[in-house]
Amino acid sequence: MSDTDEKLRARARLALRAERAFGLDSLPNPQAGPSAPGPTIPSTTFIAEPLKTSQKTARLIALDNNEVRGCTRCRLCETRTNTVFGEGDPDAKIFFIGEGPGENEDLQGRPFVGRAGELLNKWIIAMGLRREQVYIANIVKCRPPENREPAPDEVATCTPYLQRQLEIIRPQVIVTLGRPSAQHMLQSKISMGKLRGQWHSWRGIKVMPTYHPAYVLRSYTYETRSAVWSDLQMVMKELDLPMPARKIAE
Ligand code: URA
Repeated sequence: MSDTDEKLRARARLALRAERAFGLDSLPNPQAGPSAPGPTIPSTTFIAEPLKTSQKTARLIALDNNEVRGCTRCRLCETRTNTVFGEGDPDAKIFFIGEGPGENEDLQGRPFVGRAGELLNKWIIAMGLRREQVYIANIVKCRPPENREPAPDEVATCTPYLQRQLEIIRPQVIVTLGRPSAQHMLQSKISMGKLRGQWHSWRGIKVMPTYHPAYVLRSYTYETRSAVWSDLQMVMKELDLPMPARKIAE
């Protein structure tokens, strides 16, 4: 088989996986051309040299063990079973940010391991990646009771941990999942419908807001799924990841 055939087959396999994950009949292309700029966000870009992988791993472990695990800085510590630090590749190019742990995450101490996590895994696979190749964390590290939205003071207390994770990992792209995550990272009150589908910035790192997988499960329409897929394709384009072929070869 020639190299071209092999590439076509690989792209076709990606397209199949994407179709399975999104249940779409056609695969929309990301918006062509440069994306419209998002709202102006104050940014302080990084000046220090990026860390080596071993340094990143050591700092993430230290942050979790020495600070997050025993954290009692807000009321969420009273009802949690486990803190949920986050997980993934310390050299990840993509950093997904959710809202906060749910019941399964609280029990297991890992992010996105319930139904929403299953869907997020499918999205990651549709992008041609494995879960271990990205990094996944949340705005708050403890489960808000009854899965309520984290309160502003809880977010303010907890997000320095997330900021430090981002500073250590320094991904190329941040994908925020759902409104609270997008609005917090972008310090914006703009609706998800308006924030998603365009590039924004957090301290010089590109940010793509998209819908939360739990929202997609609740609102399982063609429009919602296709919007997410379009957002993720913009991320793939930005990172030069191979795009799924529109037509299956053979
Ligand atoms: N929803 C989130 O926002 N984060 C998780 O870790 C799980 C569900």
